Amino acid sequence: MASTEIEQLIQLLAKLPGLGPRSARRAALHLIGRREGLMQPLARALAVAAERIHACGRCGNIDTSDPCAVCADGRRDGAMICVVEQVADLWALERTHAYKGLYHVLGGTLSALDGIGPEDLRIVGLVARARAPETHEVILALGATVDGQTTAHYVTERMAECGVIITRLAHGVPVGGELDYLDDGTLIAALKARRPV
Ligand SMILES: [Zn+2]
Repeated sequence: MASTEIEQLIQLLAKLPGLGPRSARRAALHLIGRREGLMQPLARALAVAAERIHACGRCGNIDTSDPCAVCADGRRDGAMICVVEQVADLWALERTHAYKGLYHVLGGTLSALDGIGPEDLRIVGLVARARAPETHEVILALGATVDGQTTAHYVTERMAECGVIITRLAHGVPVGGELDYLDDGTLIAALKARRPV
């Protein structure tokens, strides 16, 4: 039997995506076996991340600065806002280097089943940004799931009077944390083939 401390480490690791109890045990043993080379640097990195990384008050991206590095970058096109579900989607789009506008991370999708309503997402902030005179286009890069499409429909209605062009990525692109699995070429094609809602 493992000690309480080791059990707790395993239980926490098992909460990570992709890690079940078995792989969590293996990861715990791996860490313990590499105390100075891995476990201690990881513990320090986690402590720093927990202390310093926050959501950007403007777009919802995560960074150590607020506004985040994307929002603060004057070379980016402030006329375009790409709306994504999760930070992972933002990272995937950034990886392509094909998009030079700004982002807005909703923090999920509307979901009747999970009890997630508009007030649980960054929708008020999005509408305010869409209404700003410098914003010309809002690109919806939301999931092809029922919840993703419900959310896209809802935010489109909310932005109806904002005086912006609303477009969405070419259909059939899996998003909502799934953009990460796409190759960059597919993602760039979906961006280029975006069309009005
Ligand atoms: Zn930001």
